[in-house]
Amino acid sequence: MIRFDRVAKRYPPGIDALSTLSFEMAAGEILVVSGHSGAGKSTLIKLIAAIEQPTSGAVLVGGRNVGGLARSALPFLRRRLGLVLQDQKLLFDRSVFENVMLPLAITGFPPKEATQRVRAALDKVGLAAREKALPIALSGGEQQRLAIARAVVSRPALLLADEPTAHLDAETATDVARIFHEFHRAGVTVLIATYDGQLFPEARTLRLDHGHLVP
Ligand code: ADP
Ligand code: ADP
Repeated sequence: MIRFDRVAKRYPPGIDALSTLSFEMAAGEILVVSGHSGAGKSTLIKLIAAIEQPTSGAVLVGGRNVGGLARSALPFLRRRLGLVLQDQKLLFDRSVFENVMLPLAITGFPPKEATQRVRAALDKVGLAAREKALPIALSGGEQQRLAIARAVVSRPALLLADEPTAHLDAETATDVARIFHEFHRAGVTVLIATYDGQLFPEARTLRLDHGHLVP
C-alpha cells in the first residue's frame, strides 16, 4: 500500500526533515510513526498525501509514485486517502452533519446515498446524536471524532492521521485511539503519527529520530 524508497526531504534553507528513509506498509496494516517533536512525522504524512514533494527517493502509494504526480492527478489520490491533519479546520458555521457531508458534496455524490453515508460515518465515531450541533458545541474529543468521520465518509482504503490525540485528556485520547483500531479491524489501512504510541497497542511502530529510522 505504501512504500518509501530512500526518501529524503529537505526544507529551505537546509533542514533535513527526513534522511534516506525506507519502509513498507501492507494493505490492512495499522502502523504508528512515533518520535519526538521535529522527528519528521508530519513530513512523512505530507509526503504520502502529496502535500509535500520528496527532495530525493520515491514515495509509492498503491503502486503509484506520488512524488511525481501531476497536479491534475491529485484529486484522484486524495479521494483514496482519509486525512486527519493538525491544521485541517472544521467549518464552525456549519453543523456536524454538514461538515461530514462536505467531501461528498464536492464530488457530486447522489444526495440520498450521501445522507446515508454521513449518518453511517457519524454512527461509527459515536456522534450520531449530535448531527445538528455546531462544532463549537462539541468537546475536544468530539471535534476530533468529527474530523475522523469527515475523513472516512468517502470510504478511503487508507486513513492517515497526524497527532489525532494531541491536546486530549488520557481517557478521551484512549477513546479516539479505539476508533482508529475499529476502522483497522473493518479492513482500512491506518497510519498514525503520534508522540504517544502506547495508545495504539495493536499497531506496528516505526520510530523516527531527527529524520532517521531508529532500528
Ligand atoms: P514532527 O511532525 O515529528 O514534529 P515535522 O515533520 O513537522 O516533525 O518536522 C521535521 C523538521 O522539519 C523539523 O525540524 C521542522 O522544523 C522542519 N520543518 C517542517 N516543516 C517545515 C517547513 N515547511 N519549512 C521548513 N522547515 C520545516
Ligand atoms: P454502511 O453500509 O451503512 O455505510 P459500512 O460498515 O459499509 O456501513 O460503512 C460505514 C461507514 O464507515 C462508511 O459510510 C464510512 O463512513 C466508514 N468507512 C470508512 N472507510 C471504510 C472502509 N474502508 N470500509 C467500510 N467502511 C468504511
